[in-house]
Amino acid sequence: MEYIDLVEVFEKLEKTSKRLEKTYILSELLKKATKEDIEYIIYLVQGRIFPQWDQREIGMSSKLIVKLLSSVTGSSNEDIERLWSKEGDLGNVAFILIQKNKQRTLSSYKLTVKKVIENLRKLTELEGIGTVNKKIQLVAELLTSAKPLEAKFIVKNVLGTLRVGIAGGILRDAIVWAFFDKEIELNYDKEQKTFDVNREKYNYYVDSVQRAYDMTNDFSKVALLIGKNGIKNLEKEKLSPGNPINVMLYQKAEDIEDAFKIVGKPCAFEFKYDGIRLQIGKDSNGKITVFTRRLEDVTKQFPEVVLYVDKYVNSKTFILDSEAVGYNPKTKKYLPFQSISQRIKRKYDIKSMSEKFPVELNIFDIMYYNEEVLLNKPFKERRKILEKITKQEKLKLVLAKQLITSDKKEAEKFFKESLAQGEEGVMAKNLDGIYRPGSRVGYGVKIKPTADTFDLVIVKAEWGEGKRSKWLTSYTVACKHNDNLLEVGKVSTGLKEKGDELTFDYMTKTLKELIKEEKGRNVVVKPEIVMEVGYSEIQKSPTYSSGYALRFPRVIQLRPDRSIKDIYTLDDIKIAYKKQKK
Ligand code: ATP
Repeated sequence: MEYIDLVEVFEKLEKTSKRLEKTYILSELLKKATKEDIEYIIYLVQGRIFPQWDQREIGMSSKLIVKLLSSVTGSSNEDIERLWSKEGDLGNVAFILIQKNKQRTLSSYKLTVKKVIENLRKLTELEGIGTVNKKIQLVAELLTSAKPLEAKFIVKNVLGTLRVGIAGGILRDAIVWAFFDKEIELNYDKEQKTFDVNREKYNYYVDSVQRAYDMTNDFSKVALLIGKNGIKNLEKEKLSPGNPINVMLYQKAEDIEDAFKIVGKPCAFEFKYDGIRLQIGKDSNGKITVFTRRLEDVTKQFPEVVLYVDKYVNSKTFILDSEAVGYNPKTKKYLPFQSISQRIKRKYDIKSMSEKFPVELNIFDIMYYNEEVLLNKPFKERRKILEKITKQEKLKLVLAKQLITSDKKEAEKFFKESLAQGEEGVMAKNLDGIYRPGSRVGYGVKIKPTADTFDLVIVKAEWGEGKRSKWLTSYTVACKHNDNLLEVGKVSTGLKEKGDELTFDYMTKTLKELIKEEKGRNVVVKPEIVMEVGYSEIQKSPTYSSGYALRFPRVIQLRPDRSIKDIYTLDDIKIAYKKQKK
């Protein structure tokens, strides 16, 4: 497929905010594409070149793009910088410059989707000094043949700012519309932008595609599987260690009584550890990989975890679900998540970090064991397997502490014991529950002492005034509703000017990288930083797009282990609002 055909679709997608219209446009594109192109298109439309969990990075800064645009178009750096601050986006700058650049010899070379993604992928292989020129060459090769619109999206893709509003749900539905339109009896009305389907069949195909996605975290792979053998292949899709799956999430219960109601009696209570959730896989070559809940590969960051599972888990292959809990190496006392959160992003001095902030691995589930998928096995059997194959060693690797009971008093005692150890509360799990990747099903619930905090994502920020004008000092935070982010408040308290982690300086450095637009003192940022926000009350308010506002919001901590997928929803806020009125 020619790249121009793809970017024209990007333009169309950018112009509509209607979910159904986006689904239709995307499904038509997928129908037209060849097998090879389908893989590429699905990555590119998400602004990526690899699956979400793949750590390879393009690694080109905005500054480098300015230099590159200057050498390709002949405009001076200063002119480009000026245009950039006016436009707020280098993709748009590339569009304008290439369009203006009349003296360019018109290239007869037509860019293909394949060529673009191949060059971008090559960028990820170049690292370190001396590679900058090679990187520039690879992108310059694309830009010299690019039409203005193509240049716009190449630049956005390189900088990671390509957003055409395709969230996971739309992509999943578009795949169903494209590949199973006959089966679901799809009828899309282009004028009214409404659709009609056989609901029962539609739900079945949507569920199948979603399930395959939860196991692979890669819509390109899902589309290719369908291409080969239709729906049958999707159902057969197995887990493979090394390819992370979406973890199962848990609902909330009010108290022990409520937990029994949801998960049944007797059930398994477990300590709810306050650490980092880690998914650990070992493949048939003995290779061990460690992923966070956001599916970031943190194998390098947790060398001791790799050693422990290798030594204390006796199985050729597995995928484990666990929580890594920090402890003080001197006093051996457990520490809260906050004190070890810095290990997730750490790229250097890893050994000394793991000595200063060691973790104990608490394993609480197993999804794959000796080439066998355990997702549909009851929880009690999965736990038995864990007990059989692990050798427990305190402060290294243990199984989550568990109590099976129907007795409320015993459970409450267990809950207190967990809090006394500095943990967050308890989990209550249905003994016959299966493992459902990616969903918040009621096979397990969490019970925590009530705290008024929400995990929200930062969408905007504001430069401070006077002495603080060099810092971004206030942050607008949002919850999610379907595929949209809705603002709920502006936070500026809870941070220090100086210190270790939670400072204005640290926040400014982090957010600066993510700025999409800048107007006066206000900046719009890529929604990536998840923050736990405390508040005293929720009020209805027309000020924010969610219709609610947090009173006295304050920063509790950053959650680098969370992504936009994990933040609180508008429904959570509505529920909390109703509860406080009682
Ligand atoms: P929270 O903010 O309460 O940790 P969450 O959104 O991260 O919630 P949930 O699925 O709602 O995730 O709650 C369960 C979380 O508790 C898991 O994500 C996991 O990180 C952690 N956890 C600690 N101990 C256990 C355990 N024994 N079993 C399951 N999860 C546990």
